[in-house]
Amino acid sequence: MKKDYLVSIIVPVFNEEVSIAPFMKELDRALEPIHDHLEIIFVNDGSRDNTVAEVNKVIAADRRVSLVNFSRNFGKEPALSAGLRVADGDFAVPMDVDLQDPPEVVLEFLKKYEEGDGKYDTVYGLRADRSEDTMMKRFSAEWFYHVFNFMSSKTKIPVNVGDFRLIDRRVIDTINKLSEKQRFMKGLFAWASHSSCAVSYKRPERAAGSSKFNFWKLWNFALDGIFSFSSIPVRIWSYIGLFISSLAFLYMIIMIAKTLYFGIDVPGYPSIMCVVLFLGGVQLISIGVVGEYVGRIYYEVKGRPLYVIDGVSGRLSATHESDGSRKNPAGKENTDSERSAEGK
Ligand code: UDP
Ligand code: MG
Repeated sequence: MKKDYLVSIIVPVFNEEVSIAPFMKELDRALEPIHDHLEIIFVNDGSRDNTVAEVNKVIAADRRVSLVNFSRNFGKEPALSAGLRVADGDFAVPMDVDLQDPPEVVLEFLKKYEEGDGKYDTVYGLRADRSEDTMMKRFSAEWFYHVFNFMSSKTKIPVNVGDFRLIDRRVIDTINKLSEKQRFMKGLFAWASHSSCAVSYKRPERAAGSSKFNFWKLWNFALDGIFSFSSIPVRIWSYIGLFISSLAFLYMIIMIAKTLYFGIDVPGYPSIMCVVLFLGGVQLISIGVVGEYVGRIYYEVKGRPLYVIDGVSGRLSATHESDGSRKNPAGKENTDSERSAEGK
């Protein structure tokens, strides 16, 4: 590893005024050995409390810190994407501000990366102990990882691994080149990574404040993940349709034979109702699933930006405009590739 490497810690924050100061204190304590190798990028995801003021206090006292301010709440995945886009580091580490991703693990990430000697481009954090999460969350998360990996034929995500990981510049650049708007970062990290290894850690309870993900948000997040990485949900209906048609065909032959031998049997209203209602339900579900994909295609083709940046302050303001794009060195025209990387 080169001597003057830089690690960009990317911290999305949404209504986290109580967490900023404890986070910085713990980060400074735990990452003292690499103090000068850090830049810390807070991405304010449309907080409505005093988060921005708290981050600005930190910026005034610490040259390594920057703030990327979103115009409103866009979500954690866009916030991580924005952080990766502006990061200057040779490495990036996405980290929650609630100290559920213990900062000292970053030292282990770096050690593992160095031991790999170029073999790994990602060192991810494996949640060895999730006892702090509720039963319901652990159970649903466990299921999600398995369903995702079953559905997604090419990209597999390791079980019990969150966004907390170290990725090197190659992976950062690959992710920055992606143009897709619906981003399931765990999947994209796995997709962009060539080879990876794990460091396990115990995930502590949230240090301050409360979780920003309710059941509905997590459900939609899970659907986004599966629909962005798998076409099985939409393809499976051909097979279900084939299966039901085959059964119906067999039933038809039986009916014809029965009618020829025994004549017409008048009763049959309940069975017809059952079949009609069952098939109606199946058709609605399948149309709904097709709709999920069509909706996502619609969203993608509109090509709206993933987020709108409303100001960059701190360290990054020297190199970035207030809309988050990189400043032009005097007289140098933006090349086409730079322009498209910045989404213009
Ligand atoms: N977060 C965000 N935008 C959102 C929701 C969450 O930037 O819309 C941030 C939040 O401030 C925190 C991180 O994402 O730093 C993880 O959120 P949280 O701890 O609430 O998630 P949990 O650990 O409960 O899954
Ligand atoms: Mg948390």
